[in-house]
Formats: sequence, structure tokens, C-alpha cells
Amino acid sequence: AFDVLVVGGGPAGAAAAIYAARKGIRTGIAAERFGGQVLDTMAIENFISVQHTEGPKLVAQIEQHVKDYDVDIMTLQRAEKLIPAEREGGLHEVRLANGASLKARTVILSTGARWRQLGVPGEDEYRNKGVAYCPHCDGPLYKGKRVAVIGGGNSGVEAAIDLAGLVAHVTLIEFDSQLRADAVLQRKLASLPNVRIITSALTTEVLGDGTKVTGLAYKDRNKDELHQVELEGVFVQIGLVPNTEWLKDSVTLSRHGEIEVGHRGETSQPGVFAAGDCTTVPYKQIVIAMGEGSKAALSAFDYMIRLPAE
Ligand code: FAD
Repeated sequence: AFDVLVVGGGPAGAAAAIYAARKGIRTGIAAERFGGQVLDTMAIENFISVQHTEGPKLVAQIEQHVKDYDVDIMTLQRAEKLIPAEREGGLHEVRLANGASLKARTVILSTGARWRQLGVPGEDEYRNKGVAYCPHCDGPLYKGKRVAVIGGGNSGVEAAIDLAGLVAHVTLIEFDSQLRADAVLQRKLASLPNVRIITSALTTEVLGDGTKVTGLAYKDRNKDELHQVELEGVFVQIGLVPNTEWLKDSVTLSRHGEIEVGHRGETSQPGVFAAGDCTTVPYKQIVIAMGEGSKAALSAFDYMIRLPAE
């Protein structure tokens, strides 16, 4: 059995594994895909102390760093069920899709999240070529350009306000007949001179010239008419879904499906910790996920040294 079993191999899981292994305890990582969302990222310019890097390059460095320690890395492993220990200090069990199961004194959940996609033509083709999901990450790349934000909930309206300060013009597109964001955010958005809000609009296609985005097509749902907007970037803000479906019977989740954690990364189950994009901790970013993963590992260690000797 492991002392610490980390489920998920993104920045949160990698940081947790390094911090745990440095305590000299038996550490494992089970992950579907080592690197997580970072593998799908091109330019990264907010990883402090590194002015510019690329996702796959950063993942290779993270992996090398983990491999410097005695960590059992198990990739292509999908966790399907967590069976918490029956008594405090007992072993937790993580069941894998291949039928095997792993046991550990403490578990760190770091299965991350995925951006909900529009599912329209052009979205996949122009991902990282004008189609973006994270305004904190990619906003500055669109300085002086025209962008659209799709989604009029809190995250869409926050993104539109944020981007309006950086880019030339923002078109906010909402499917419903009204925005769903908090009233204060809507008022702020309405006060900005370089924002246009279009409601009752169904995005039908991301347009491009073969190498980059050139526009967006939408259908006016009231008049059933098709329109096009010329622009250079499309930020999709229709939801970030935590990869926690497999945990709903074992730890407390928020109504958005995020794992509820305390200041030390503790979940509702003693000995089970969580970190990164799959948790209630706000702002889904690499540096934050790494910090939270480190915290969860230190908390797991702290928990273990308090367990009665067997
Ligand atoms: P993830 O990176 O999502 O990793 C989750 C891990 O869990 C993966 O290994 C996955 O395979 C695994 N997993 C999931 N479910 C299971 C399961 N059931 N069983 C086993 N393993 C499982 N952040 C920045 O700071 N700067 C940027 O420039 C930036 N750009 C981004 C660009 C894009 C396109 C995207 C999508 C995200 C970007 N982000 C950026 C956000 C950043 O990537 C995330 O905040 C960060 O990766 C979260 O780390 P994590 O470890 O919590 O989760």
C-alpha cells in the first residue's frame, strides 16, 4: 500500500507527489494522462520566473522533476471509484477502470477539470489559433484585437470585463434572452464603451482562413437570421466541468461538482485530500494548482504522523 496515492497527474498532482516523496514516504501517482490540461496549452506566460514556455515543454520538465524522486508513476489509469477507509487510519481503496485497485493510507485527489466546448465547426480546428478558454492565460495575446466571449454567466461576463481592458473590442454572445451574471457585473459590463452584447444568439460556427480565426457566425434566435462578426479571437466561457463524477458517493462536492476543501486541502473524508482545478479553490491556474498540490501533500503527511502506531 502507498502512504500517499495521488490521483491525477497535472500540475497539482505532480507537485503533491514531489512534496510527498521528499518526506521519504511511499508515493504513487495514478493518472490517465500525465501533464493534464497543460499538454493542451501552447503559450504559457504566467508561470512565475519563466517568461515564456509551451505546455508540452513544461510537462516534460515537470515529469523529469517527479522522476528525480522515488514516485511510482502509473499512467493510462482511470480511477472509477474511491472507497474510503472504514476506520480512521485504515486503507482507502481506489478502483481503476482496468479492474485493479490501489490502496493507500492517504489519497490526494487532483483530477482537474475540462472546459465545456461549443461543439460547433471550427472550434477544434482553431483551438489555440484564436479559440481560447482562459482569459487570464490568453487575454494579453489579443491586445488591440477584436474578440468575442461566448457565455453570459458570471465567468463570461467577468471575462468580457477583463478583456475589454486589454483588447480593442469585445462582443459578448449569450444564447438566452438575457445574461445570467450577477447584476453588479452586468452593470459594469454595460458601462464599458468597447463592448457589444448580443442575446438570443446561437453560435453556429467559428470562421477562419485555414490558419487562424477570422470571425464567428451566429443565429439570431428571435428572427431566425444568420449573422457574422469579424474578429480575431473567441473565448468560450460556457463552463468548467470538474472531473469528479466518479467521486459523488465518496466526498462532498459543491453544486458545481467541485470537491469541497478546507484551508489545508482536506475533504469531507479523513485522510483524503484534494487540490487543483477539481476543487472549490477559486482561479484555475497552473501556479495555483501547484501551490494547492504542495499544500495537500504537506497536510497528508501531517495527518499520517498523527495516526496511532499500528
Ligand atoms: P489538470 O491539469 O486538469 O490535470 C488533471 C489530471 O487528472 C490529468 O493527469 C488527468 O489525466 C487526470 N485525471 C482526470 N480524471 C481522472 C480519473 N478519473 N482517473 C485518473 N486520472 C484522471 N493556466 C495557467 O496558469 N497559464 C496558462 O497559460 C494556461 N493556459 C491554459 C490553456 C488551455 C487551453 C487550458 C485548457 C488550460 C490552461 N490553463 C493555464 C489552466 C491550467 O492548465 C490548469 O489550471 C491546470 O492544469 C490545473 O491543474 P490540475 O493538476 O488541477 O488539473
